[in-house]
Amino acid sequence: MKQINDFVRFIQGQDEFIPDAHAYVLGHPDSGDLTLVDAGLMGKADYKIQAIRGLGIDPSMIRRIIMTHTHLDHVGCLPEIRQALPGAQVWMHRAEADPLESGDESHLYGMDMFRQMCRAQYGITEGAFSAPIARKLEGGETLDLGGSSWEVLHVPGHSAGSIALYNKEGRILVAGDTVYADYAIGRFDLHGASGAELYDSLMLLSSLDVEILLPGHNRIVEGLGPRYILETARQWEAYLK
Ligand SMILES: [Zn+2]
Ligand SMILES: [Zn+2]
Repeated sequence: MKQINDFVRFIQGQDEFIPDAHAYVLGHPDSGDLTLVDAGLMGKADYKIQAIRGLGIDPSMIRRIIMTHTHLDHVGCLPEIRQALPGAQVWMHRAEADPLESGDESHLYGMDMFRQMCRAQYGITEGAFSAPIARKLEGGETLDLGGSSWEVLHVPGHSAGSIALYNKEGRILVAGDTVYADYAIGRFDLHGASGAELYDSLMLLSSLDVEILLPGHNRIVEGLGPRYILETARQWEAYLK
């Protein structure tokens, strides 16, 4: 686990043949009110809980888990994490909260072929990931997370309910799977995805002053150039629109 600043910590995903999403811990530890962003792949909860303990943080201080979206590589170990952190609420965008609560798993797998493969490979039963969603985000909210302020941005395109979290003070963007390092962007061919929406979401993010990019996968970037996200959108424009 890497400390990005006083109120952001990074837990690197442990990819298998399916990726395991990175997780982030937001909030000042002395507030006793911490937030975990994203869970990860099935079986990938224990090392994340250990990483949190390793920094001297009592995992019971994690009051909520905010999901950037509900693809399997992010939500797969959510049931394990909820078991380990029974007091933590789950928050996510309404567009994916409603289907998840009602047992519609289209967003989780993204495509039927992948659903069949994962069910067979991992022995996943129907409804294994449904969870009560304590707060359904819309985008536009400003959240006080353990003494740090985060703006919720609804950034559909990679998935219908993708969100990003932006901290203006630290110029930090927790980007989910919308934009990555090295001019990469999230897939836009899965259930609920849209290239045109992803382009608009990238343009929205390009208006932010971002120095630290914390994506859902691959390397994190500290010292992002000022036109990086705009340049990324431009490079992909012909494919997205
Ligand atoms: Zn995703
Ligand atoms: Zn992902």
